[in-house]
Amino acid sequence: MHEVRPQVLTSLSLFVGTGVCNANCPHCAGVVHRKFAPQKDGVLNEELITKTLRACYKDGARYLTLSSGGEPTLSPRAVARTLEIVSELKKEGIVYAPINLYSNGIRIGRSAKFASQVLPKWKALGLACVYVTVHDTDAKKNAEVYGVKFYPSLKEIILRIHKAGILMRANLVLSKSTVSTAEKFIRSVIYLKNIGADSISAWPVRGEDDRPDKENVPPEEEMDKMDAWIALENSLDFKIRLLRERDREVYQEGRKLTLFPDGTLSGTWCNH
Ligand code: SF4
Repeated sequence: MHEVRPQVLTSLSLFVGTGVCNANCPHCAGVVHRKFAPQKDGVLNEELITKTLRACYKDGARYLTLSSGGEPTLSPRAVARTLEIVSELKKEGIVYAPINLYSNGIRIGRSAKFASQVLPKWKALGLACVYVTVHDTDAKKNAEVYGVKFYPSLKEIILRIHKAGILMRANLVLSKSTVSTAEKFIRSVIYLKNIGADSISAWPVRGEDDRPDKENVPPEEEMDKMDAWIALENSLDFKIRLLRERDREVYQEGRKLTLFPDGTLSGTWCNH
């Protein structure tokens, strides 16, 4: 394991699952990691995960996110086993909370059976929130960006997540072809709030190298207007965040680390 160990950590992100995905985003930052991911769901390097969880906890990490080079809901065994490992560490006094999971939401929205059988198990194992990436609140446009014929109803996805007792954060990706003006941003946030999202995190689109996609990011002046609106609207009940490049010092200072499928522990991965 190659390690970059900062002085004080706040959070740790673990890659889980096979890297298989049910979407086809054109600039997927997960693709480069797929060749190192296990071929079969449920196969994971338990020793490395346990060691990393212990070491990062010792260095201050308390928040945990489960990420993937693909779509984690397609690797439910790996997600469950990872949550079990985290849960087993509680007896050593190692408690990660909250635990959050990134998802494109497609499987949750397409399969009521999956949502009703799997999500409650993850909740029982400590999952607090599902971060669903939203490119556009218009289902057709969202499907287009995801490269799928049909994207399920966001309202249904949120309902199913809530039914399992789990929170839903919408991760709103801002780009010239989807949400690029403050006006559309405000409309999208209000829509997501009205259909039940518990909080919103937004950031300008990133490319397959996980760096800002300069061609497609919204104009700075529009993001300034979004920031100004957020400052007025933000509340403890409904948190709205806009993560701009200048806000990324958490990653730059390495306070968040990610364990990649090749065993590298690094501060370079943000989100996808
Ligand atoms: S960006 Fe996420 S949802 Fe899109 S193809 Fe890559 S892993 Fe799948």
